[in-house]
Amino acid sequence: MKVTIVFDNISNRADLIADWGFACVIETEQRQILFDTGADGRILMHNLERLKIDPKSIDTVFISHNHFDHIGGISAFLNANDQVVVYLPRSLRGVRKAKKVIHIDQKARKLEDNLFTTGELQGIEQSLIIPTSKGLMLFVGCSHPDMKQILNVAATFGPLYGILGGLHGFDQYELFESLKFICPTHCTQHLKEIKERFTEKVFPGGVGQVFEF
Ligand SMILES: [Zn+2]
Ligand SMILES: [Zn+2]
Repeated sequence: MKVTIVFDNISNRADLIADWGFACVIETEQRQILFDTGADGRILMHNLERLKIDPKSIDTVFISHNHFDHIGGISAFLNANDQVVVYLPRSLRGVRKAKKVIHIDQKARKLEDNLFTTGELQGIEQSLIIPTSKGLMLFVGCSHPDMKQILNVAATFGPLYGILGGLHGFDQYELFESLKFICPTHCTQHLKEIKERFTEKVFPGGVGQVFEF
């Protein structure tokens, strides 16, 4: 599995644009997934182009939650490719131009082979779970629901390997003890503390960052 951060508050390359929000592209053996879409469609499409990711190669869009900095780029993306399955949390009623929408309720479920959701926890946000050879990777938008609940629900699908995404005000650090990989991005407020506590397993985010699992 290959993960490329395509929208984030910071950028790792001069030709990639940083902006408030988050999106990443996850390539698995079966799927090419766009996880969230950042705040601004022009910037999302610019970064995809510079990272040589063809929008038409994406077959799945997964939206974590209904905040502008995660859904802002969706319409620009759908202009380039509307032949995608879009997984939307139930509280986000619909997306103009989206042709194949699947609404996700509050229950954790399998979306398809090797693709799982926590469900829209606390009626606000769903997180994506994908198996790798090392264990499950958990992708979060902002982590608005209680992190303990996110982790517990995700762990019903198997042992967790790592987490990548926005961690917002997360400060229950002991919950991350058993994880092997932590990539805090976007809205993470306590980045300094997380880095200090988990130095050897915290990896920097930023647009252009690539991970292979
Ligand atoms: Zn949010
Ligand atoms: Zn956010």
